[in-house]
Formats: sequence, structure tokens, C-alpha cells
Amino acid sequence: MKAVIFHGINDLRLEDIPEPKIEHPGDVVIKVTTLSICGSDLHLKHQGGIEPGTIMGHEYCGIVIDAGSQVGFFKKGDRVAGRPAFSCGHCYYCLQNQHSLCVNGGIFGGGAGISKLGAQAEYARVPYADYTLARIPDSLEDEDVIFTGDILSTGLTGVIRSHRKIGETLAIFGAGPVGLCSAACAPLYGTGLTIVIDMVDYRLEQARKFGAVTINSAKEDPVARIKELTEGRGADAVIEAVGAPATLKACFDAARKGGTVSILGTVPKPTLFDLSDRFFDMFTLSIGLGDLNHVDELIRMIQGGKLNLRPLITHTFPISEAMKAYDVFEKKEGNCIKVLMKGIK
Ligand code: NAD
Ligand code: ZN
Repeated sequence: MKAVIFHGINDLRLEDIPEPKIEHPGDVVIKVTTLSICGSDLHLKHQGGIEPGTIMGHEYCGIVIDAGSQVGFFKKGDRVAGRPAFSCGHCYYCLQNQHSLCVNGGIFGGGAGISKLGAQAEYARVPYADYTLARIPDSLEDEDVIFTGDILSTGLTGVIRSHRKIGETLAIFGAGPVGLCSAACAPLYGTGLTIVIDMVDYRLEQARKFGAVTINSAKEDPVARIKELTEGRGADAVIEAVGAPATLKACFDAARKGGTVSILGTVPKPTLFDLSDRFFDMFTLSIGLGDLNHVDELIRMIQGGKLNLRPLITHTFPISEAMKAYDVFEKKEGNCIKVLMKGIK
């Protein structure tokens, strides 16, 4: 089968490798029908940190073609959307519902944990399938739900972690796929005013379609503008969805006293800035991976017409053109937001 393989920094290749098979009774094997590239895949491409030979990718939908003897929820022929990480369901962290912290699990195409598994391939082995997959209702297509496992769960997590009550002002740094997913979720939590900050106009335009007020930070100082919009206080809640030192610092500057800051962007290292002048300002800070417990709920919200992330899909390629898809995504060619690839029919 064809798969995108990490060979080293800046060295991804589309190669033919053997198809996966069931290795543990909790596994399923899926035919990958739709897959995507994430901003995190670009971090891995450029910075490494994963084993050579790892299959890239963690955003995927597919059809179950084989299921291990201990799989309870899924059978051959089921259409499924996947989480980016797999988790055992019975370790300390899984029992706290903190599946991203599972001690027996791992991240697809991320190298962390026990495998070189990934989803940018024609077939994928999915460990702990009962916890890792979600069923796609007949009324929805892959394109409706492909983002539920990763970027939509992550965007929603930022909103949930920073939200305290209805009518608040939420500022989101970054109108990439993750920030746009936060913007799409914000109205569901009763956000009063959503402000999205980026430097790329076509991405800000999409944020406006999700109901946000936008600031182009290449043209004006976003912190000053956020203060103007909030009677000088700063935003009640701020989400960092870029992963850059400048925006991390700006999030703290843009948050009001007693506000919340939720960091979703992958923090570059080392990231140091002075918070001493804000020590008495009583922030609540959260940081880390998206919460993967919301996938089934998100699918129901999409089915109920409350969320529609299809506008993020700007390009679609067959998996045979995976390297072209990476190129378009990375260079933001043709106003790219999100690139999909289709597997074999
Ligand atoms: P992206 O690179 O497409 O989006 C980042 C956006 O930030 C771009 O639109 C870019 O123009 C904008 N930007 C860059 N510098 C800026 C600045 N100084 N001011 C304002 N905007 C600026 O990436 P994405 O896919 O949306 O992901 C965003 C971040 O989230 C990445 O770091 C990614 O690795 C991370 N991520 C985290 C999780 C998680 O579980 N926490 C999951 C997925 C992605
Ligand atoms: Zn991701």
C-alpha cells in the first residue's frame, strides 16, 4: 500500500509498504477513505522527534475491513472517524477520562508511545479501536466529520478550558485550522464577542464567516485593538492557536485581570517571557493536547446542523499525490486552509 513515511527532518516520502494486519485482539484495520494533513505534521517534518519509518498522519476516516476478537463496538463494513491518539481505556489516566495521557497509548504519526503507526496511508491498523474510533452516521460524509478527532476537538477544548460564562469576550490568536475551529465552537458556548487575530486575510475572512470580529496583526497592534474592544480591560478569555513565542506573550498581554489563557499551539522551546508584572492579575492558564472525549458529541452536533467545518476544506488530492498535497498545505497555495486526500475507492 501507499503511505507517507518520515525518513528524517525534511524527508517525507510516499512509499509502498506492506498492508497492516491485526496484531492485538483490540485492533481493527481500516481502509483509509479520507485523510488530512495537520499543522503538527509540518512541525514533525521540520523538527523531527519521531522515529524514521513512522507513517505520518493522525486525521482520518475509513471503513473497517477487519476487527480483532476483543473489539466490541466495531465490525467489518462500519464507517469510522478516528482520534489522533489511541488509549487503552483502563490505565489510571483513561479511568480519569484523560485519554491523551494514557500510559499504554500513543499518537498516530507522532511517534510518542508504542508505535510507528500513522494514518496517511491506504490502510491503517488502529489499536484499542473501541476507544479510538467513532462511528460515522449514514447521513454524514467523511468530509463532514474528518476534523472531529483532532483539530475540532482541540478547538473545542480551547473554548471549554477558557470559557466561564455566557457573554464573555474571547480572543483567539491564530486563524489556522485550529483557531478557526475554536471560532466555530465559540457561539455554542454563548461567547458574546469572538475576536480572531491573524496576519493572513483569507483566513480572517473565514473567521468572519464564523461570526468573529477580526484583527490583522500585520496591520495593527492586536493587544491595543483588543483593549479598545473591551473598554481597556482585555479579553475575558484568550486562546493561543499559533504556537509562537510572540503570540504566547501577546495572549497574556491581551487577557484581562482574572481572565483565562488556553494554550493549544505547540509551544516552541525554549519559550521565556516575563510575567512578573502580571503576577497579581490572577490568570487561569491551561496548556496541552485537545481533549479527545468529545468526538461523538461533535459528530452529533454536526449531524444536528450546529457545526459545519466543511468550509475549511480548500483542496482535495488522491493519496497518490500526497507530496503535492504537503506542498500546497505548507506554502498555503491557492488560499489553502486544509488539504484532504482520498484513499483508494
Ligand atoms: P497553522 O500554522 O495553519 O495556523 C497558525 C496560524 O497562525 C496561521 O494562519 C498563521 O498565519 C497565524 N500566525 C502565525 N504567526 C502569527 C502571529 N504572530 N500573529 C497572529 N497570527 C499568526 O496551524 P494549525 O493547524 O491551525 O495549528 C495551530 C497550532 O496548534 C500548531 O502549533 C499546531 O501544532 C497546534 N496543534 C495543537 C493541537 C493540540 O492538541 N493542542 C492539535 C492540533 C494542532
Ligand atoms: Zn493534529
